[in-house]
Amino acid sequence: MVSTESNCKGVVYLVGAGPGDPGLLTVRGLQCLRRAQVVVYDYLANPRLLDDAPIDAERIYVGKTAGHHHLPQEQINALLIEKAREGKIVVRLKGGDPCLFGRGGEEAYELAEAGMSFEIVPGVTAGFGAAIYAGIPLTHRDYTTSLGLITGHEDPTKKVSSLDWSKLATGVGTLLFYMGMGNLGTITEKLMEHGRAPETPVAVVRWGTTPRQQTLVGTLADITDRVQQARLGPPAIIVVGEIVALRERLRWFDKRPLFGRRILVTRAAGQAGSLSDGLQAAGSEVMCCPTLEIVPPPDWRELDAALGQLSRIDVLVLTSVNAVNYFFERLFALGLDGRALHGTHIATVGPKTAAALQQRGLRADMLPDKQCAEGVLAALLEHGVVGKRILYPRSQLARDLLVTELTAAGAEVSAPVAYQTRAAEGAADRLRKILEEGVDAATFASSSAVEYCLKLLGDDAPHLLAKVAVASLGPLTSATLRRHGLEVAVEAAAPTVESLIEALQLYFASAADGSL
Ligand code: SAH
Repeated sequence: MVSTESNCKGVVYLVGAGPGDPGLLTVRGLQCLRRAQVVVYDYLANPRLLDDAPIDAERIYVGKTAGHHHLPQEQINALLIEKAREGKIVVRLKGGDPCLFGRGGEEAYELAEAGMSFEIVPGVTAGFGAAIYAGIPLTHRDYTTSLGLITGHEDPTKKVSSLDWSKLATGVGTLLFYMGMGNLGTITEKLMEHGRAPETPVAVVRWGTTPRQQTLVGTLADITDRVQQARLGPPAIIVVGEIVALRERLRWFDKRPLFGRRILVTRAAGQAGSLSDGLQAAGSEVMCCPTLEIVPPPDWRELDAALGQLSRIDVLVLTSVNAVNYFFERLFALGLDGRALHGTHIATVGPKTAAALQQRGLRADMLPDKQCAEGVLAALLEHGVVGKRILYPRSQLARDLLVTELTAAGAEVSAPVAYQTRAAEGAADRLRKILEEGVDAATFASSSAVEYCLKLLGDDAPHLLAKVAVASLGPLTSATLRRHGLEVAVEAAAPTVESLIEALQLYFASAADGSL
């Protein structure tokens, strides 16, 4: 489509993506991203942020890794102008702050020259993010009152350095060098040559604010050797100044219990939320790969028939959040609502199921002590089931325990399939890739997650899981794992996400240390 400048509504937002932690994107940046029709992004912008753009937005990677441009700058400028001319809302997502050593100024200049509308959304720059996540506050009245941001990689075609080393060395308290890893030796030499004490503390923070963050501390005199020994490469920020000493006291990000651990979460999409959030909050890098997905049953006949008879039902048994969701969605689809359960006793399996029920405006009458089918059975038997009509909507994979035992105890049980689980589409390749790249632990929240995971991995399962700490939500899941010959390293004390996270923390407690 060709449109003239005067009638086009295209706009380019130059958005700072922040240093890596997706939580450090600004609210304004997120607003722009949510409206984007085109997202042009590069290497240092966290790709997870792309999930916030509309699903049909065009995503164009123009990234560069150290000095290796995917698309030359002129072409990036031309691309932004072209897309905006088409009338598109374009988000140019750049790592850190767009205008700090990021060519945002150049891109904005070209847009202005071309007469395009643009906006600049600042971002948390890597220097601030990396230092602060390493526990280095950059200024502090007792240590330093000034801060300098410096490129450690000047334009190589320049004959004379434009950096005034003598002033930088002694005139500024804290110095942050960007893109300086290739020149670390020169940087430290120049600073010492121009009067900065060799014992001045220096920190090098690589992949700051991300689960891969690594921090190395030394002095101007020895940091270059230390970096070489540790083979620490870019991207990293070099922090020079007395303030670095505060890390010892203020270290927080890489002190969290699961920091540096890569943990596989195999829960179904839409359910992984709290487990992955909790693991992330404890510092781990979470690799999500749902091995199964929850889908409606092949047809609704069985469940519909049961719902048609709801007024006859004495007890409704709900043993999962999925059961609650599918039961009520179908109830609504049939033009009914919670009033149809008037007089029905409701038994749930645990607090999560009860909470899901509460969201529908209903209270659970029964919450067993043991949060599993056996617990529900014991509670029901205690309640008395002789002659009772029990409805138990469930998945096609649910064990028969409740049906057989309740029937044997004199109840009339109807157990329609309300939802099904199946192997998640495309999961096999992703799962294999995650395990090949290596994880420290793999979590399994149900027997079906185990079954599907092993099915997806096939014969390679033992080999791929050999070095992984296998973590289970409870004894049933553990039994399934063991039945398949897997050793269970971690088992939650109670079948809740919180308890699983706690068990993982205990397991890794002795070895948790993020520094090199
Ligand atoms: N506009 C960006 C900087 C781009 S220059 C910003 O404001 O952050 C690229 C340099 O930024 C890298 O060479 C490295 O020095 C630094 N950098 C970017 N992301 C980083 C991260 N997560 N951790 C440490 N340094 C990072």
